[in-house]
Amino acid sequence: MESPISESTPLSFEYEGKSVSLIDSHLHLDMEPFDADRDEAIARAADGGVSQMITIGCGLASSHRAIAIAEAHQNVFVAVGVHPHSAAEATEEELEGLEGLLSHPKVVGIGEVGLDFFYMNSPKEDQLRVFRHFARLSMRTGMPLVIHTRDAEEETIELLEEVREGKPFCGVIHCFSGSANLAERCLEMGFYLSIPGIVTFSKSLKRVVKKLPLDRLLVETDAPFLAPKPHRGKRNEPAFVVETARAVAKLLGVSLEEVVAKTSENTRALFGLREES
Ligand SMILES: [Zn+2]
Ligand SMILES: [Zn+2]
Repeated sequence: MESPISESTPLSFEYEGKSVSLIDSHLHLDMEPFDADRDEAIARAADGGVSQMITIGCGLASSHRAIAIAEAHQNVFVAVGVHPHSAAEATEEELEGLEGLLSHPKVVGIGEVGLDFFYMNSPKEDQLRVFRHFARLSMRTGMPLVIHTRDAEEETIELLEEVREGKPFCGVIHCFSGSANLAERCLEMGFYLSIPGIVTFSKSLKRVVKKLPLDRLLVETDAPFLAPKPHRGKRNEPAFVVETARAVAKLLGVSLEEVVAKTSENTRALFGLREES
């Protein structure tokens, strides 16, 4: 298979005399579009300068699959949770089962969890119930919370403010594509913001990202979804996270290497990852 990585993609990056590498902070390696070439996609990422990735569970079965992938790949870590789309089906047993996975050595976060009022695949009450459960669990355990929020900015802020009771959260707003107000409120609560490939083509997101602090940003693909330019329309994969880093660098007026170094440092700090040796 022809390599999907563009020729201009450097294999390694140097920042302040040190070799640095990218981290894809959010993707779904367990999903079916990776069934044919999962190991190859992980290997291509490593070849493209992506040293680590966090694959995200969307329910108990998906979280188990994600853990199996991480057990087979040293550079893959996991977050476990219930996607808002599936909140209606989340039983007490499933929630308990997920909590039991938090002690697994490759599990570094809780998520993805949150609110999606755009698709509304689960009723609001179920989404709120499951999100509140995991937000409390994150507060209680100190495990970072990976949040999905779409068309639900006010409700997301309100629930998080209620749960945190004035204390800072440890977590990230994944696939951040919201308003400047959402960014500001979430930064205030202690969250990092993870920038997706949408930033390579969305004018409104570009405008918001321009004003964000690099020391609070991560980058992600959310693969297999949302391929960045110049790969739009194709299946997304972790090697493409470099395109997002490139776009962020351009918007912030800093070098690609600086974005690589800082976003990886932020991701490691948030999820407690050790540097690849
Ligand atoms: Zn999501
Ligand atoms: Zn996701």
